[in-house]
Amino acid sequence: MSKKVNIIGAGFSGLTAAYYLQQQGFDVHVYEKAETVGGLIQKKQSDYGFYETAANGIMGQAHIIKFLDDLGVKYRPSSDKAKKRFILRERLTRWPLKFVETLKLIFKVIINFLILKKHKKINYSGLSVAKWAEQFLTIEAKKYLLEPGLKGIYAGSIDELSSQLIIQPLFKKKSSNYKSIIPLVSGHNSFHDILDQIKERLISLGVQINLQTANAEQIVEQSLAEKTPVILATSAKDALSLVEKLREQDQGLKNVFNFLKQIELVPIVSVTAFFKDLPSDQYIGFGGLFPQAEGLKPLGVLMNNVIFNRPHSYHSETWIFGGAFDSAVIQMTDAQFKEAIQAARRKIFQSDAEILDMKITRWDKALPHFTLKHENNLAQFKQHPLLKLHGNYLNVIGVSKIIVESQKLAHDLKEVSIQEILKNQ
Ligand SMILES: Cc1cc2nc3c(=O)[nH]c(=O)nc-3n(C[C@H](O)[C@H](O)[C@H](O)COP(=O)(O)OP(=O)(O)OC[C@H]3O[C@@H](n4cnc5c(N)ncnc54)[C@H](O)[C@@H]3O)c2cc1C
Repeated sequence: MSKKVNIIGAGFSGLTAAYYLQQQGFDVHVYEKAETVGGLIQKKQSDYGFYETAANGIMGQAHIIKFLDDLGVKYRPSSDKAKKRFILRERLTRWPLKFVETLKLIFKVIINFLILKKHKKINYSGLSVAKWAEQFLTIEAKKYLLEPGLKGIYAGSIDELSSQLIIQPLFKKKSSNYKSIIPLVSGHNSFHDILDQIKERLISLGVQINLQTANAEQIVEQSLAEKTPVILATSAKDALSLVEKLREQDQGLKNVFNFLKQIELVPIVSVTAFFKDLPSDQYIGFGGLFPQAEGLKPLGVLMNNVIFNRPHSYHSETWIFGGAFDSAVIQMTDAQFKEAIQAARRKIFQSDAEILDMKITRWDKALPHFTLKHENNLAQFKQHPLLKLHGNYLNVIGVSKIIVESQKLAHDLKEVSIQEILKNQ
């Protein structure tokens, strides 16, 4: 009989872990508290079209395309137009540095990376991204490229972000598995379509998916009592409440609790606004990022229909607010978001177009803040032998990385179960 494993949470982490565990021969049971799978990644409907609440696609790297193909999942590649990404410096531009600033940057990069190879000798431990940038980039590159770029992914402050967690992995040699075949892929209508297809495929493979589960705490407790591995594929906040009562059971669980307690989570608000038309053909592309120096309230904007070339009746934009430097965002009213979007559109698009509809998703504790404190916390963390944590707070934010971690987790659990069989023989 195959060994049982329980997974709490049917977001991207839980579903992908379920697939790899099933492939390793486990009897997989998934328990989700919501009515649908997907977690943060949801698709919702407005009178003017659908909108998405978190990640809208996944990088089309070789290993991801293989994963989707193996599962028979149908996907939609991003459009060529989405290759155009903008950064705001007075106006939206594809390259925000001036000619002389670009030359200064090229010079500094050649000296540091190609001649001195400083990035290979540097000690990343305890070094913030801002301090790293002071050594390797110019002031303008830090301000107009690095800061908005990282804000767009991590919603963090570069003075606090850890270069060991964020910059160092960029220089690690990657296998051809990580080569990009397509920039980004999504489902036919939304990224959530992909998660729905994964769910259906898992069910056909015999994975049990239980929605609207209200007793995850008991399931975790029972799993530990029966020595059944249990994976908490929830946010760090939800994992913390699941282990809170169990922490006195053994030192390993206490360590897990203490690790989760220290994780700082930052708020994000995503606002999808619908318009009659695109602001101007000039800005047809992926969207724009706004450096802090430009003084806009939102962090950036996505041009939803352009990215995946989807048929649509109305133009929709998703504006992202919040992050580590703006925790008060969660208290902003709908009217304040509307005002902030209108002000930003006037500045960047010179447009006063009417907002036909606006859908707001407020995530109070959305993303882990990859700070130096988190670097230290992670360095001391050790997985419990039976209760495994799984989620973006253990690695990087991107959903593409979650797939890699799901595969690793399934492989590690398989190894442990083989060891157990050998021990009992
Ligand atoms: C606005 C926004 C935009 C983003 N954009 C991108 C992007 O462009 N690219 C990218 O790669 N990433 C992006 N992300 C991040 C990405 O969406 C997340 O990293 C990813 O969705 C996390 O998936 P997860 O399964 O780990 O967690 P979650 O999605 O949080 O799923 C956890 C699941 O666990 C369930 N759960 C919790 N507690 C219990 C319980 N007690 N019992 C049962 N079930 C429980 C929840 O209901 C949920 O379904 C974005 C995030 C946000 C907020």
